Amino acid sequence: PALAERKQRIDSNMSKIKHKIVVMSGKGGVGKSTTSVNLAYGLSLRGYKVGILDADLHGPNIPIMFGKEGVKLSKISEPLEISENLHISSLSFFVPDNSPVVWKGPQKITAIMEMLEGIRWGEIDFLIVDLPPGTGDETLGIAQNIGTDSKAIVVTTPQKVSILDSTRALNFAKLINLNVLGIIENMSGFICPDCQKEVNIFKKGGAETMAQEKKTDFLGSIPLDGNIVESSDNGLPFISNDSVASRKMNDIITKIIE
Ligand code: ADP
Repeated sequence: PALAERKQRIDSNMSKIKHKIVVMSGKGGVGKSTTSVNLAYGLSLRGYKVGILDADLHGPNIPIMFGKEGVKLSKISEPLEISENLHISSLSFFVPDNSPVVWKGPQKITAIMEMLEGIRWGEIDFLIVDLPPGTGDETLGIAQNIGTDSKAIVVTTPQKVSILDSTRALNFAKLINLNVLGIIENMSGFICPDCQKEVNIFKKGGAETMAQEKKTDFLGSIPLDGNIVESSDNGLPFISNDSVASRKMNDIITKIIE
């Protein structure tokens, strides 16, 4: 009964959110968190009320990407305000910096449930959930509790290994009945800062082919851009710059809200 009651409280908290989008990837380092942050920030700039839930318990990096490294909060119920339209919550607000989380599966699922239940997002338009890479406990905990009306986005880079792993993430999403909104190819091509020509450092277009094969929408691609590293290290979402990457991210957002 305690579990059933908790589930009810989660459902009631989640029912105040219009759209829930979980961001997944097969591998780490493909730009999943960068995508979550810029998606959320871009939506907030368009006037939507947005929350980001950092569900990566072992590598909670969302606060760093907003320049909120080292910030500690006392109450899980209050997410941190980034702007009037954007709030974030992360395990990193509640654990000492650099301390590894050594939880077993059930503890991780409980932590995820506590976050879904306890964070007071209020009436918001979008909740973006940044999942850890792969298909582990956190992903399962989110999928089983966030509500069947939620959507998933899969981020991949163009290399074959990333595509293969993201196919696994995609199949996992389908298996647990998450509606897949589509796939994003990140680090897709490189705009040379000197000659402005596009150079394909990694192969390009693999994600689009995969999306076709899996009968899933392709949402767009973001080029490799040195300014993205700079801006995320400095706590500024790249979507606020004027760049090819920012225009492409905005096109993806337009596609998502249509
Ligand atoms: P993940 O969440 O998949 O582990 P991150 O979003 O943390 O990946 O990104 C990993 C690193 O790659 C970060 O330093 C980020 O700034 C950088 N990065 C992400 N996307 C791009 C891109 N399109 N161009 C250049 N650097 C990028």
